[in-house]
Amino acid sequence: MNIYRYDVAIVGAGLAGLSAAIEIKKAGLKTCVISKLHPLRSHSGAAQGGINAALNEADTRSHEFDTIKGGDYLGDQDAIKTLCQKAPATIRRLEKMGAVFSRAEDGSIAQRAFGGQSKPRACYAKDRTGLTCLQTIYEQADRLGVEFVEEWFAGDLLYDPLSRAAYGVSAMKLATGEIAIFNAKATLFATGGYARCYAINSNAHANTGDGLSLCLRKGLALEDMEFVQFHPTGLAGSGILISEAARGEGGRLYNGLNERFMEKYAPQKLELAPRDVVSRAIEREIALGRGAGENKDAIWLDLTHLGGDLIASKLPELSDLARSFLGIDMAVDRVPIRATAHYSMGGIPVDNDCRVRASAAFIASGLYAAGECACASVHGANRLGANSLLEAAVFGQIAGETIVKDMRDLEPIKADAADAQGFADETRKLLNSRGDESVAFLREELQQSMSANAGVFRDRVSLEKQTEIIAALRDRFLRVSLRDKSRVFNTELQEALEFGHMLDYSALIVAGALKREESRGAHYRADFPNRNDAAFLRHTFGYLDAEGKTRLEYADVTIGEYQPEAREY
Ligand SMILES: Cc1cc2nc3c(=O)[nH]c(=O)nc-3n(C[C@H](O)[C@H](O)[C@H](O)COP(=O)(O)OP(=O)(O)OC[C@H]3O[C@@H](n4cnc5c(N)ncnc54)[C@H](O)[C@@H]3O)c2cc1C
Repeated sequence: MNIYRYDVAIVGAGLAGLSAAIEIKKAGLKTCVISKLHPLRSHSGAAQGGINAALNEADTRSHEFDTIKGGDYLGDQDAIKTLCQKAPATIRRLEKMGAVFSRAEDGSIAQRAFGGQSKPRACYAKDRTGLTCLQTIYEQADRLGVEFVEEWFAGDLLYDPLSRAAYGVSAMKLATGEIAIFNAKATLFATGGYARCYAINSNAHANTGDGLSLCLRKGLALEDMEFVQFHPTGLAGSGILISEAARGEGGRLYNGLNERFMEKYAPQKLELAPRDVVSRAIEREIALGRGAGENKDAIWLDLTHLGGDLIASKLPELSDLARSFLGIDMAVDRVPIRATAHYSMGGIPVDNDCRVRASAAFIASGLYAAGECACASVHGANRLGANSLLEAAVFGQIAGETIVKDMRDLEPIKADAADAQGFADETRKLLNSRGDESVAFLREELQQSMSANAGVFRDRVSLEKQTEIIAALRDRFLRVSLRDKSRVFNTELQEALEFGHMLDYSALIVAGALKREESRGAHYRADFPNRNDAAFLRHTFGYLDAEGKTRLEYADVTIGEYQPEAREY
């Protein structure tokens, strides 16, 4: 058993993990970045539309207010202030590192309109913004000599519950099945999003919430898990994302009767209302029999009036996606779309400096989280488009700075081989199991049922049903059997581990949604259609025990200058 010792172990090589790594490496600390993928395959690279900053505004107050209102007042206003105030410098930092953003006529960085924003704020590189940012920051990390531990799967958090202190992870080398310990004074989770628990989703296969489950299994909390964002425009059938940039550039939505139906739902903002509003409108039109296409189960996204030149110069990636997956030329034909599970507002709770909150009351020691897996609560109940790359870059850097600051005071905990036992047992059990269930079928059932019962619309009956379905799937997962018994690139084993994680955090999505008897942002209860500030202007903290039972508690929202108001667009 190899035990590698570091000052800092970072799990995740997307925009958040790499932003942190650069700060930590610059401070001269011994750091590794563990990633189950090659860093450049992290989902940050799939981001298309943009990254927000109030570049040409006197101050950032309007960006702050849009974000607070967009999040239906559940966001912590101090964290949102940090996000928006640091945005302009973050864009300039990325640009100085070498990210080539698209330009306006006068040579300044171009910005496009995005949903829920009162001004065009999304800086972009055509429609490959995430790829541009990720490649740039990866090159800089590599240049600085950041040590990458690629294609290693982190499977267990080393955590002492008595002192509430983390001291690294155990991980498996995917090429050989070798398990090793990465013992560190500080551990940062930057493991990204986790919408793969839904049947129709826009996420990469790797987005399975591993970091969240690793925390849950140590008795740590997850925050606001019921808030899952459904993006309005996934390609019909697959859910592959057609970025909001399409509507930002002027794209319109029509139902099967050729009505521009957003006039009814958001008379002022129309297609550029926040995502929760547009997704509900789409799904409602379809439910009322006004869908488009042969089966009336889609909506038209119309870009034909924009012209081929604009599409080729500003939306080339989207145009390729429509052509490759549906055989459609978006300059000539309308594109059938439908809402797709896209982004998760909840996650591992952190304070404003990215230290993990073990519970509503306590901070863990030596444990940090940043990026989509974390809940810094900057998005509240609904994230605005182009605020997430920003969150990953801003809070990734903050996490790095905090770790450097904390390093002196962190007590090292020395790991030994016994610390890898839990993860070794988990993999051995899966490899030796002789049941009659298959991971692929169980996962399909989880995804279909999550979409049906905990999707854009939910109610008590559907959520209670989903609670039972997840409990039954947990039981059946004990009887799973893998056909591949080897340890060499065993993707079946990896998928089984990931499925176990999906079951864990899905239980928290459903439990949070069931208890939250109101509608706010992306969480829409058909049986409680109104927001209820008196009872639910608060964060959910959820826990999971070894039997799969959930427990919830609640914590205050930090309100600043802006008192909750009705949210109209
Ligand atoms: C299709 C798409 C388009 C998007 N477009 C935009 C946009 O235009 N603007 C915007 O602001 N946001 C957008 N988003 C959201 C945004 O891209 C993400 O929220 C953000 O990039 C997340 O960055 P991250 O660093 O937290 O995670 P990621 O980039 O997802 O990286 C996660 C990392 O964790 C590693 N990892 C995970 N589990 C393990 C494990 N068990 N062991 C080892 N390593 C592990 C992975 O290998 C990976 O390196 C989009 C998202 C999608 C899916």
